[in-house]
Amino acid sequence: MTRQPHPVDHELIQAAAHVARTRCRGDNHTMAAAARTPDGLIVTAVNAYHFTGGPCAELVLIGTAAAQGAYDLDTIVAVGDRDRGVVPPCGRCRQVLLDYFPTLKVIVGEGDRLRTVPITDLLPDTYVWADHQLDTE
Ligand SMILES: [Zn+2]
Repeated sequence: MTRQPHPVDHELIQAAAHVARTRCRGDNHTMAAAARTPDGLIVTAVNAYHFTGGPCAELVLIGTAAAQGAYDLDTIVAVGDRDRGVVPPCGRCRQVLLDYFPTLKVIVGEGDRLRTVPITDLLPDTYVWADHQLDTE
C-alpha cells in the first residue's frame, strides 16, 4: 500500500460541511469552503451565486482570509449543500488559487477516495500569470 504524501484534513472537511449545512440558503449560497492557514487557523466562506458570475466559495474565502489577516493558505476544501459532500474546484478557481497560492493543497474526491493533492496537480501545464508579467525592477 502506498503511503499518501499529504494526509486528509478531516477537521477542515467537517468545518466546510458544517457551514454548508447551517449557512447555505436557497439558490444564492449553495457551496461552502474551508481553508487552513499555515499557522492552523481555519477560515470559512460561502459562494455568492449570481448569473453575472458571482464568486465561488473558494474565491470568497480568499477575501475572507485576507480580511482576517491571513494572506497564505495551506489547504482548501469545498463542500456542497444538501449533503453533496466534497466538490472539486472549478476551472476558474483552480487558476486563481494557483496564482494566489502556488503551494496550496486541495482536498478532492469522495467517500474513502478523499485525497489531498497539490493545486498544480489539478492544473497541469498551466499558464502562470506571474511568469508573464513584465519585470518592473
Ligand atoms: Zn469555482
